[in-house]
Amino acid sequence: MFKILFLGTGAADWPFKKYPGVPPALLSGEFRGSSSILVNGKILVDCGPTVPAAMETFNVALSRLSDILITHTHGDHFSLKSLETLAGRVKSSARLNLWMEQGALEKAGTLNNIYNIHKLEPGREVSIAGCSVMPLPANHRVSNSPESPLHFLFSFSGKNFFYALDGSWLSTVAWRAIMNLQLDAIVWDGTIGDLPGDHRIFEHNSIPVIRLMNQTLQANGVYADSARIILSHLGRTLHPGHRELAKNLGEEGMEPAHDGLLVKI
Ligand SMILES: [Zn+2]
Ligand SMILES: [Zn+2]
Repeated sequence: MFKILFLGTGAADWPFKKYPGVPPALLSGEFRGSSSILVNGKILVDCGPTVPAAMETFNVALSRLSDILITHTHGDHFSLKSLETLAGRVKSSARLNLWMEQGALEKAGTLNNIYNIHKLEPGREVSIAGCSVMPLPANHRVSNSPESPLHFLFSFSGKNFFYALDGSWLSTVAWRAIMNLQLDAIVWDGTIGDLPGDHRIFEHNSIPVIRLMNQTLQANGVYADSARIILSHLGRTLHPGHRELAKNLGEEGMEPAHDGLLVKI
């Protein structure tokens, strides 16, 4: 079984410096931290500004954490300060593994002094903490960086889970990687909401874009019958309140994530 804990579900426009650190505001979607998940208690995906505080808020046992995967180096996903804080908190003598796309490594600075750093390449599957992880190219861009932002397809004990943020639409390579699979859960970049005309549509999804992709994935049998279709990386000003958003998305078989959401598949 996969256990996916959402440590943050916000896009970059949330005021992360004002992170409340208290469950009521986070569980209700009133405030969202920087987007991040923890898979099976062992694999952290992304480590933005609010992740160390979120790990405390949601009682994450650091002794189980072994690996950190980075999707890309935008500041809401990759914070040197947060990574230094986490490495400092881990008491065991074994260093954590930090996995980054090869072009993103130039942003890693001196992290190689405190982490075991591993290179990721789009399309080259790796085995991490008992899971198969396939990094796939995302339609997203980091200015002034040679990196290729990544989505991650996790497979573990017959289950498949796709973490598809940041990025708009799916790359051809990503589609080909999932077209013959059954996904038990997917997390879409849901930044833009239902606002036509937003220029970010070429780097983040809007709900109409997600709707189109869902129809295709459903029609081609890519979603398992009980697949969880979850939106995260939600823009602060681009969606209604969490309750209304949950109602709207629920009518279409989707759900918005909130910080602290635990998904078991
Ligand atoms: Zn982002
Ligand atoms: Zn980004």
